[in-house]
Order: sequence, then structure tokens, then C-alpha cells
Amino acid sequence: MPALDPPMALLAEVTHRCPLQCPYCSNPLELDRVAGELDTASWCRVLDEAASLGVLQVHFSGGEPLVRRDLASLVGHAARAGLYTNLITSAVLLGQERLDALVAAGLDHVQISFQDVEDAAGDRVAGYKNAQRLKREAAARVQASSITAGPSPTAPRCCRPGRSSTRRRRRSRRRANDCAGAWSSITSCRTTMRRCPRPA
Ligand code: SF4
Repeated sequence: MPALDPPMALLAEVTHRCPLQCPYCSNPLELDRVAGELDTASWCRVLDEAASLGVLQVHFSGGEPLVRRDLASLVGHAARAGLYTNLITSAVLLGQERLDALVAAGLDHVQISFQDVEDAAGDRVAGYKNAQRLKREAAARVQASSITAGPSPTAPRCCRPGRSSTRRRRRSRRRANDCAGAWSSITSCRTTMRRCPRPA
């Protein structure tokens, strides 16, 4: 029986907490309280285990991952473990100071969800006053940061040979098509800010 490839990505749902109240939210009905969340050390262990399994990317999600004060520490730990790091966020809490800390920690990519193209409808769906304005302001901050510095050599780690091990490079080549497919699906359901060119 052929060996299974390791998973390509880890979806790290670091919290159920979120300031928004989208009616379609897929959080469970019975939310974990903050005391029930994995602590920093446990998440670092999970990230190390994922990297040693061969996972290439970690997507920090929730709930809203920015409610966790240790998010920059988790991003930094993932980056040091060799994982490509993506933040999936509503962005209403993504101020300049927070973004700077995440970028300094090694964040590779930010994915901002928008509930609508119109401000009033976006706020209504999110159940959060001025959510749409805050998202647009955060998106502008991300675009102005080094994360969105335009076409750059910082392609996703699965097609970034210079920063990958030999084993990862082999897997990267095998998975180039999968990666392109994943990117198109991300772009179709979210407004995505990224610094990496789409893989060829
Ligand atoms: S932003 Fe995401 S986690 Fe928060 S309420 Fe909306 S769908 Fe749920």
C-alpha cells in the first residue's frame, strides 16, 4: 500500500472568540471559553509536531485569532519551525502596532474576510458597527507593509526552494499544481492580500 503524503497545511483554530456575529458562522454552538483554549506552550508543541510531520503552511484562524495576545509569539514559533504563516482574520482588530508585531515575528500572508462590498450591508452581516471601514483601513495597512511589497521572491514555501529543505523541495515540485489550485479557491471566497506571486 503506498505511503500517504503528509498534510500540506494545518488550520490552527486558536480561539472561538470573535467580536463579529456573522449569522453563517461555522463556530460550534457550544464555544470554548478562553480558559478552555490551548495555551501558548501547547500550540508551540502542535506547530513543532506539524512541521516535523511535513506540513508546509499554518493558517491561524478562529474565531478571530487576533483576540489572542500571544498570536505574534505563535507566528514567530511557526516561522522558526519553517512553516509558511497565514493569518485569516476579520481584521477589525488589526491596528498598525499589531500588524508590525506580526510582520516582525515572520508573518508571510494576511487573508481578510469581507462580509459584503457595501459598507452598510457588511456591517449588518457582521453585526459590528464600522466593521467594513475598519477592514478597509486594515487592508490598506497590510498593502503598505512589507507583506504586500509587490512581486517578490517570497513565493509560498512549497515553491520557495531557497528556504526549504531538500525533502521539502521534492514535495514542493510534486505539489505545485495542488498549490495553484488551493490559491484559486482561497481567492474566490476571500479578499486576499498577499505578497507572493501565484505559483506557475
Ligand atoms: S468573522 Fe468568522 S469567526 Fe467571526 S463571527 Fe464571522 S464567520 Fe464567525
